This record gives sequence, structure tokens and C-alpha cells, in this order.
Amino acid sequence: MLEEEILSYWQDRDVLHKTMERMASGQPFVFCEGPPTTRNRPHMGDALPRAVKDAFLRYQIMNGRKIVPYIAGWDCHGLPVEIEVERALALKTKAEIESYGIAEFNALCRERVVRFKAEWEQMSHRIGYWLDYDNAYMTMSNEYIESVWWAVKQLHSKGMLTRGRHVAAYCYRCGTTLSSHEVALGFKETEDRSVIARFRVSDLDASILSYTVSPWTLVANTFLAVRRDWEYAVVEVDGERYILGRAHALRLLPGARVVETLSGESLLGKDYEPLFEFAKCGGNAFKIVHSDEVPEADGTGVMQISPAYATADYDIALDEGSEIFDPVDDSGRFTSAIPELKGQVAGDSDAEVIRLLESAGHLFKWELIHHSYPFCWRCDTPLIYRPMDAWIVAASSARDRMRELNDAIRWIPSSYKRGRFGNFVNEAKDWVVSRARYWGTPLPIWRCASGHELCVGSMEELNQHSVDPVPADIDLHRPYVDTIHLRCPECGDSMTREEYVLDCWFDSGCAPFAQYHYPFENMEEFDVHRAVDFISESADQTRGWFYTQHVLATLLFDSPAFKSVLVMGQVYDDKGRKMCSSEGAGVDPDEVFSSVGADASRLFLLSSPVWQGVEFSRENIRLTMVRTLTTLLNVYAFFAANSNRVNYRGESLTRKTHDLDVWIISRLNMTVVESRRAFEALEVHRAVRAIISFVDDLSNWYLRRSRKRFFQVADPEDRFSAFSTLHECLTTISKTMAPVTPFLAEGLYKSLRGPLDSVHIETYPVAEREAINRSLESQMSLVRQAVEAGRLARQKAGVKLRQPLEEAVIAAGEDGMWVLRRYERMIADELNVKRLECIESRESMIEYALTPNLRALGPRLKESAAEVAKLMEMIDGSEMVRHLAASGKIRIGGFDIFEEDVIVVEKEKPGYSHASIGAVHVYVSTAVRSKLKLEGLSREVVRRIQHMRKEMGLEFGEPIIVEYVTNPEVEQAISAYETNILRDTNASSLTSRPSVDGGRMWAINKMPFEVSVRRP
Ligand SMILES: [Zn+2]
Ligand SMILES: [Zn+2]
Repeated sequence: MLEEEILSYWQDRDVLHKTMERMASGQPFVFCEGPPTTRNRPHMGDALPRAVKDAFLRYQIMNGRKIVPYIAGWDCHGLPVEIEVERALALKTKAEIESYGIAEFNALCRERVVRFKAEWEQMSHRIGYWLDYDNAYMTMSNEYIESVWWAVKQLHSKGMLTRGRHVAAYCYRCGTTLSSHEVALGFKETEDRSVIARFRVSDLDASILSYTVSPWTLVANTFLAVRRDWEYAVVEVDGERYILGRAHALRLLPGARVVETLSGESLLGKDYEPLFEFAKCGGNAFKIVHSDEVPEADGTGVMQISPAYATADYDIALDEGSEIFDPVDDSGRFTSAIPELKGQVAGDSDAEVIRLLESAGHLFKWELIHHSYPFCWRCDTPLIYRPMDAWIVAASSARDRMRELNDAIRWIPSSYKRGRFGNFVNEAKDWVVSRARYWGTPLPIWRCASGHELCVGSMEELNQHSVDPVPADIDLHRPYVDTIHLRCPECGDSMTREEYVLDCWFDSGCAPFAQYHYPFENMEEFDVHRAVDFISESADQTRGWFYTQHVLATLLFDSPAFKSVLVMGQVYDDKGRKMCSSEGAGVDPDEVFSSVGADASRLFLLSSPVWQGVEFSRENIRLTMVRTLTTLLNVYAFFAANSNRVNYRGESLTRKTHDLDVWIISRLNMTVVESRRAFEALEVHRAVRAIISFVDDLSNWYLRRSRKRFFQVADPEDRFSAFSTLHECLTTISKTMAPVTPFLAEGLYKSLRGPLDSVHIETYPVAEREAINRSLESQMSLVRQAVEAGRLARQKAGVKLRQPLEEAVIAAGEDGMWVLRRYERMIADELNVKRLECIESRESMIEYALTPNLRALGPRLKESAAEVAKLMEMIDGSEMVRHLAASGKIRIGGFDIFEEDVIVVEKEKPGYSHASIGAVHVYVSTAVRSKLKLEGLSREVVRRIQHMRKEMGLEFGEPIIVEYVTNPEVEQAISAYETNILRDTNASSLTSRPSVDGGRMWAINKMPFEVSVRRP
């Protein structure tokens, strides 16, 4: 069945709902769907997380667990959506958006989200990610927003959410701030300028040198910081005197004359001259202060302080009671406070500022540097830091508790707990959650003219405080919510909403409870299922969704948001680029699924550890399909074609006696054991690998070796055993594979007439421990190893497998020898040899050649060395090696010769070709005597005839009449092996003719063989 047919089968039979019914009474397995943002079409990189989550959920369902809640979720808000709409409308600034109209703009954002949500649903449907999509949570719904408001109010009433002026990372293109975890998303290596500026200290008749990697911020410099406990040096260079850290002076100006040493303490409080005339700043500015932040490793030991553009600098200005000089506007450009630079983008003005420094005589030196700098993760604009009014969650105060709660979380891979995630928690910063934007959850805080604040935590409160009645069908988004005014409970004045929306990461961080519309509905549902058992998203959520959930769960509930988390790697395209729709490097999933299939894609993606990055490759997916899925379907096709013939109807047989049956059933049960272990350990790739290797064993060994048993008439019981074994393997593997390849598993299960509507409402197989026979498994794996090595040995000699050979000798150690002897007939048959010998040591199959080691012999035997060497070459090498190995020395020409005196070279025994795999060494005799050659030719004849039978679509057992024309050699082979040929091809006659009508011309070893095959 094609995947599309399976999809409609599921639809027609309403299988998803049947699954939900089945799990209704199960023990809960709490899940939370990490909501994808639906601003663009999904690409192949988006498919991996969905396949992974689906596999785990299906596995839990088949184990009788009830997934709660089993619903999809969509992240609808945020700047990424706005940016797409801005692009579509060619709007460049916030002013342009506002003149376009916030209502119209937001309507387009909503429309875009809904449109792409449909595409995401389609992709999820096609890849078989089962969830309840009809009842999905959407972060833009009024219910979801109300839950987020509730969370905001909790934080506000605990004093954890406050309004303040803070220096924050700012994107001037987006016109809004970024939180620290958003900043962490966007670091890139970049080339910039660094500068050392000179600041004149008239008191000391010298200039202080200070280093910065953001030269443009020097325009707002108002302090210099030193460390009070450090030593500073006054050095003289070209008649000028400079002050800098003593240690730094040695590094930066080696050889400069130190005139004087000063303590950092003695510099404190000294005034210096402002760099530029435009730098005007009231209060106590332009003096030297102390800071612990002055870097030791680089720079000059003096830090320049621009309070407007760095958090630590801002605090210094507050401590010193100085004003803040901030000549940058919201568009990131210099204001008229700097006439020379007015209108220029501040962050791009390094070169200009360096020129200004130079003309003012304040430049000491500048150079190009490479460093890591933060860019806006949404629009790739370099960020700057600037003072902003903002609403801030005091996350840093919960750092210790967040660390403690993280201890209870199981991270896969475990390194995340103390590594990437743990480190980030250890440095948790306060979280700026307000955004001066449009498409987001509105901040539910209203203020009156006297500065009283009211935070609204529900629709009910909104109604209660509203001046005018709130329309019942209100859209809570901007601009509608902005028109609502509240009556101030303290002074009775009208209150206006703070015009911010929330960081969209705040929305998604609320998902564990907001998806229930908690606490307005489903109170109990959430309270019972508060701790999520399992989430899984890609690694870039470490500082995104994983983190914001953890912050909010800590602050709101004082408990971890999730118990275990599986971190997935990124999907890269075939050029090694991270798949990302905004960069156009995505691959269209639809196109992949219709060409190679969703199952093959799932199997491929899940066959390596999901936390490693995976490189998408259509060719590898195709190979996965051919090697495993097509192979399995061929095994089924064999079963289906032949079970009808013997009226086998799926009956099972409990007692199996044939070695191959016992072996494959053991392998089947081990595969089930391994799959279960892998799923429980969240290491699905181990399950996939176990399944892949089982399918190989089933097709390429079990069926291959058992094929004749399915056709035999002599022993019907054995035939029945083979059918029932194969049936059991196919049925059980369909269930074992169901979570990974849901389509093929379903098709297989239905074809085998599984008793239920779907394999997905079956119970996941449980291994029968007593059916596992480890020693038989290891024996059979040794046999396969020997066969593999034997085939390699044949290949080396260039002898086709169809050509019978006289003999194979296998050396496999003492234990191996006994095992292989037990399977002699099977191995001889596989290797197509007349005789097989299994021995312990390969010694007798090796010949040695010896050459004298003149470097050792020369110094010891002096002039006799050449004569001894000549004698050695006359003795049989193998003889000598054996003798040396036995007694340690040998006597030649009156001298003792030791092992180190000879160089031993191993040689293949003449007449044999050899290959080894591990400790198994196989030697096949390569001489083809004429009788063997004729037999080989007869098999070539059989193969040609069988090929034609197959092309004619003949049923097994249908007789044929064969006529042929050929040369004397092939003729000789046919008459020598006529009986075999008649039997193997089920021919009733085999006749040589001078010519045949409608025959087909073949070449057998370059000899002509024209043959016609027909029904009698
Ligand atoms: Zn931006
Ligand atoms: Zn008031």
C-alpha cells in the first residue's frame, strides 16, 4: 500500500480517534508540544523534530499510556511574523507600520499565521505526526492570552515584574529590545575596529590610554575606570607621557621608559578633559573612578565608561550621580546633540569617530580586530546597548532556585544539564519582557497620570475596571485593547495601557499551563499533570523555549516545567548549511515524501542519535528505503505469494525445532528487547538499528537459507514450521516498527490480516525471554561471518559464486571450529564448494618465505654472514619458521640463528584465495577442474531459463518446454547435468535443436546459448 492510501485508510476508519479512545483509561504520560512558529512554510529541517516526537508518543500509546494533553500547539506571535509582513508590504520603519494602520497590519500577521499553520498541519499529517490538531492551542487565542495575563499578574503582584530604565540590547531595525537569551541566539564572528584613545589629565601632565572595541561609544564617554589595587605606570614615548596599567605597559609598549609608578588609588577622583566638545554632561562627570570590571588580560588597564551604552557603565553613572549623555535615537542614529554625526547610524560610525578622535589629537592607535559580536536573531542587524524604559522580570534573583530545580530534570544528552543549559541558568539575567511592537500578547498593565499601576490578570478583571463595557467579542490584540481605559482604583483617574506587547518567548514559556486555559478552565487537569514527562525540541531551544519554560515554572509554581527533555540536533542540507527557511536553504518536505516516502525519511532521520546534527541527503534516504523497507516488503511478497499455495492461514506453532527457526525467533525477540530499552532510554536510534539489522537477518539469511523448506513436499511439518516462523516475524516486526515507520507497519499489518483496525492500537510487543537463545545467535553470526569471508575470498580470485569449487578451509580458533563444523553443510552450500574443512589454526594454510636479516647477521657473524645467508635461502621457509617457533633457534653453517636474524613474509598457499573477517580465516581452492567447470556452466544455463520463466510470469510448478542451440562445450555441460537442470527449472523437456523459433540469445562465458521457453 502506498503511504497516501494508508493516510486515507486512517481517515476513513477514523483511526486517530480510535487510538484516543483506546488510551482513555491509560496511565497518563504528560507531554507538551513545543509550538512551532508558523510564519513560513515548513522545510525538511522542521520534519525531524516531528518524527522524533511522534515515534516516542506512539511507543507510549502502544504501551497503554494515555498522552495528556494529546494536542498540537502553534506559536503565533512575535517579531518574526511581523518582519515577514513588513517585507511583504515593503515597510521599513515602525512609523510606516503605524501609518499603514496597526489593525490592518496585525490582521495580515494573523492571516499569515493561519495560512502557514495549514501548511504545517499538512506536513505533519503527511509525515504521520499524530496529535489532535482540531483542538490545538494557539498563542494568539483570547483564552491563551488570558492565561498569559494571569501569569503576568502573578509576577507583578510578587514584585517580580517591574518597570524600569535599563540598558538593554536593542535592534534599531526592529525598534525594540532583546532579552539576554535572545542576544545569546545571535553571536557571530565579525571584523571591527578597536581603538586606544588618549585622555588628557592636566593635573599629571600626561594622557591616560584607554582601549575599546566599540569606538563609536566614545562620543558618550563620561568616566574612566581603573582598579584601585593595581599599579599604574607613567611611560615616555617620543617625548609624550602616557598613563596605563604597569603590566599592560610592558605588553603594549615594550622598551618604553617608565618615568614613574602610581597606585590606582592615587588616580581616583582626578578630572580629565572630555574627548569632544559636544560631550556635555551635568553632574559629577569626566573623572577617574574605580571598577572591578577593568579587564586584566587585554586593554590598557583603564576602561572607558559610556553610561548610556553598557549596563555596568550605567550603574557607575547612577552611583556617581551624573546625568546620562545619550545622543542616539530610537532609529539607532545620532541626534543633533552631535552635529558632526547627526543622522548617522551609531553602530556603523566607528570609522567616523576614529577620524574625529584623530583630528582632535586624541587617537593613540587603531586596528582591525576579529571578535564575536551579537546580531539580532530575527533580522541580522548588529545590536547596540542603550537605556530603555522596559518591563523586566527579576529572573536573576531566582538563579539559585532555578539551579536546584534543574537538578531534578533528566537531560538527554546529559551534558546539557551542567553544560549549555546549566551554565545559562547559572548566569540567568533579568528578563526584559516588554517589546515596543504590535503583533503579540499585549502587556496587561495600565497606568494613570499619577503613575499608579494596575495589572489585569483575567477578562473578568478587565471588565470590572473598564471605564466602558468591554465588547464580548473583543480581539485582545492591539489596537483594540489600547482603546480600553480603566478607572484607577487609587485615584479614580482614567488609566491607559502600557503600549508594549510581550516577548513571544514569554508566550511559549507559558505553554504547559496556558494550553489548558489555566486557571480559568481545566484547573484539575493541569494540577494533576503539572510536571511534563517528556518534551523534545532542537538544541537552539536551550536558550529559548527550554529556558523560558524553566524560568516561568520556577517563578510561578516553584517546580520544574518538565521531567525529561530530549535535545535534538540540527538538520543540515547537503552543503552543510543549517536548514532554515529564512535563508532559503530548506528542502520541501512534500517533494521528499512523494519521491522517497515519509517512512524512509523517518527511518533515516532516526537511525543516528537525534542529538547529533544530521545531514539531509535524498540519496541516503533512498538507500535506507531500498536496504530496509523494500527488503522487508519483498520478504512479505514472498510469504504472500507462497502461503496461498499451501493454504497457510497464519496459524502459529509454538514448538520449533529447526535451527534456523529457533535462531530467527531468538533474533526477533532480541530486537524487541533492544527496541524497548532504546525507547525507554530516549535513544531511538538504537531501536532503529536493531530493526534494520533484524530485517537484514530475516531476508539475507533466514529466508535465503530456508527458501527450499517453503517448497518441499517431503516434510510438511517442517514446511509449516517455516511458514509460521516467517509469519510471526512479519507480524511482530510490524508492531515493533510501528512507532518509527507508521505507514509501512500499517500496510504490513493490514496485509497480514492483523485482528485490530490498526497496528497503532496494538500492544507493543513484549519479548519472550525463553525464546532468546544467545549462544545460537552468536553461533549463527559466526557462520555469517565465515560465509562473508568466503565470498570475499572468491571475489579476490575473480570466481563467480555460481561456479562450484573443490574446497574451502576455514580456521576459526578452537571454539569457532566446533561451531562451524556443526553448520558445515550450510556453509558449503553458501560458498558453493564440494568440500569444507573447519580447522582450529590457520597455520597449515600459511606458507612462509624467509630472507636473512643482514643488519642483525652482519655485525654478529662478520665475514661468515654472506655464506650463512646463502645457506638460509636453500632451506624451506615454512619448515624453518616452525622450527624457530618451537625451539627459539636453529643451527645453520655452525651458527645459532635466532628469530631476529630473519625477516618472515607470509604467503598465500598456492592454489587458494584467502580472506579474513575478525578471527575467521577462509581459504577457497581456486583450481577449476573440467568437471566443476561443466557444473558451473549448467548453473549458468539454469539461471538463464529461470530468468525467462520469471519474465513470462509463470507460476511456481508450471511445467515448461525448453529448446536451445549452443556450442559443444555448453552442450556437454547440459547433457552431464540434465537431470539437475530439468529439476531446477521444472522443465518437462530439454532439447538441442539446429535452430529455435523466437529464441533468446544469451552469452554464457562468451559462448552462445540461444534458448526458447514455452508452456507445453
Ligand atoms: Zn532586528
Ligand atoms: Zn491613579
